[in-house]
Amino acid sequence: MGHKVVSALLDAFAALSPIHCAGCGSADRTLCDSCRLELMPEVTPRTLADGTTVFTALRYEGVVRQALLALKENGRTDVAKPLGLALAPALARAAQPGVELVAVPTSRAAWRRRGYDPVALLCRRAGVELSKVLVHNRSTLSQKTLGIEDRASNLVESMRARQSLVGRKFILIDDVVTTGATFAEASRALRTAGAEVIGGAALAFTPRVFDRSTALSGVSQNTP
Ligand SMILES: [Zn+2]
Repeated sequence: MGHKVVSALLDAFAALSPIHCAGCGSADRTLCDSCRLELMPEVTPRTLADGTTVFTALRYEGVVRQALLALKENGRTDVAKPLGLALAPALARAAQPGVELVAVPTSRAAWRRRGYDPVALLCRRAGVELSKVLVHNRSTLSQKTLGIEDRASNLVESMRARQSLVGRKFILIDDVVTTGATFAEASRALRTAGAEVIGGAALAFTPRVFDRSTALSGVSQNTP
């Protein structure tokens, strides 16, 4: 085999079977042992500005942030398994009998770019079934490109339910809670369709923004 062929095969193999830790980049598969330790969930209830209680598993910083970015931006779908396992206890805390789980929908542009839905994948790896009842109405800017003030207005009436949801109850799921604007919009869309929103769960919360918004708008949290 020529050198180019071998190199192409090695690249293909590396894509199928990653050889770098998604948390720190060291030579390892998926996540090295020390990065795995950083994904030990510490399930904490947080109350958003609209009163919704969201159970979060991790802090969105360091290894957690790198691993989630690898899943969302670098096609590292192998990381969905360890992240999904960290999300699972937060889902378990939020879950109630007779209540369905619904993920915040991914935007059409993001789905086209990635070819998969990271939050849905996390939930599958966490071993839960989702009700696919929410869709995007229109395109929105990526929330991470916006400041706190613009995040809410970017999302106004950006989601809707596919059908009437009268009599149904839901727990909302997202990957990261930052200002709570995404949760608020998804809750609005569910309630508009007649559903009851019982609470939420997220893989991680953004500590810095959460602390600041607590000071600004009286969002409370039960952090140790
Ligand atoms: Zn590592």
